[in-house]
Amino acid sequence: MTSKRSRITRRTLWALALAGAAGAYAFKDDVAVRHGPHGIEAVRLADAEFALVDTFDDGPHVRYVEGGIEAHWICAGKPVVRRIKVAAWPVTLAPECAYPHPLQIHAGAAVDGDDTVLGVRKLAAFSDPHGQYELLMQLLAANGVVDADSNWRFGDGQLVVTGDVFDRGHRVTEIFWLLYSLEQQAREAGGRVHFLLGNHEYMVLRGDLRYLNGKYPRAARLLGRDYPDLYGNDSVIGRWLRGKRTLLRIDDALFVHGGIAPDFATAGIDLAELNARYRASIGIDPNSDAALADLHDDASPIWYRGYFHGAGLVETELDAIMQRFGVRQIVVGHTSLPAVAPWHQGRVISIDSSIKKGVRGELLFREDGAWRRGTLAGERLPLTPLE
Ligand code: CA
Repeated sequence: MTSKRSRITRRTLWALALAGAAGAYAFKDDVAVRHGPHGIEAVRLADAEFALVDTFDDGPHVRYVEGGIEAHWICAGKPVVRRIKVAAWPVTLAPECAYPHPLQIHAGAAVDGDDTVLGVRKLAAFSDPHGQYELLMQLLAANGVVDADSNWRFGDGQLVVTGDVFDRGHRVTEIFWLLYSLEQQAREAGGRVHFLLGNHEYMVLRGDLRYLNGKYPRAARLLGRDYPDLYGNDSVIGRWLRGKRTLLRIDDALFVHGGIAPDFATAGIDLAELNARYRASIGIDPNSDAALADLHDDASPIWYRGYFHGAGLVETELDAIMQRFGVRQIVVGHTSLPAVAPWHQGRVISIDSSIKKGVRGELLFREDGAWRRGTLAGERLPLTPLE
C-alpha cells in the first residue's frame, strides 16, 4: 500500500509542478506532452524526476552577444547571469555552479573539415554518455585520458566520441563543456578530440525533446528560453555542434554513431559530402523533406542497428561496406550493450557500453596497434565477443 501511495503522490506532485510551471503540458500515458514552437515536445515521466527538485544546478549556457558573451546558470534553482565584455579571444569564464572548471571561450567554432585522419598512434573512444557526467569522468580519469581535475592527459592521442551526449541523464551541459575544453587542451598537446553527432544531437537541435531529462525544460523556462534555443547558433555549444561531423575515418577504421547499412553503402557519395549533407540537415524535421530520409530514417548511419545478434547482415555485405569506405573496421555506438565488444571477427566494434545507465561503462583503446577496452577500474582488457 505504501509503494502505491508514494507512486501516486509522486505523480501528482509532478503533475502539479508541471501545471504550475508550464501550463500547457498534457499527459498521455507516461509522457507529458505540449505543443511548443518547435512542434510537439514531450518528456518521459521516468526521466523527469529532476523536475521535482527545487534546488538544482545547471550551466553555464553561454551565448555570443554584441561585444562579448553572456553566461547563464541555474544555481540552487535560481537564475544567475554574467555578461563579459571581450577585448580579445579566447576569454576565460570562471565557474559559478554546475560545470566546475574555468572555461576558455573562443570566438566561434570552426567546422571540423577533415573527414579522414591518418597516422594516429594512440586512440580512445566512447559513445552515448547521455548526461552521465560523473561516470564518464571516472572512466576517463581511471584510464589516463584526463586527470582528476578534468585536464587532458592523453598527450598526442586522439579521443573519438560517437555521439549522444543529449537526453536521458541530468548532466548533459557539463559533458558538452568537458568535451569543448578537452578539444582545446588536446590540440595544445598535439592530440585531438573528435565529437561526432548522434541521433539525439539531431533530435534535440530540431526540437524533438521526447527523451529530454525533466530538469532541462525547467531550466530553460527559468532562463526564459526554449531548450533548443539554448543550443541555437548564437550559443557557444550550439555553434560548436554545428561544425561537427557525423562520420570520420581514422586510419583503417570508420567511426559513426549507428552504422552503415548494406543498402546505404551503394549510395555513392564520399565522407566529405555525407558530412556536409548531415550538417545541412541540422534543425530540419526529416519528415518534412523526403531527401533527408536516407540520413535520418531507421536504416540511416545515425540509427542503424543491424550488426548485432543475428540481425541478418552477411559477411559479403560487410565486405562491400568496408570496401566502399576504404576501411577494415567500423566502430559504432547507439546500440547499448554490456561492454565494448567485437563483432564479425572484430571487423565491427561496438562502443556503446551502457554508460547511459549510470552504473558502469568502458572505453575503447587502440595502442601499439592493438584494440583493447579500458574498464572503470582502469584495466586494459582484450576485446572478447559477448555471449
Ligand atoms: Ca543513439
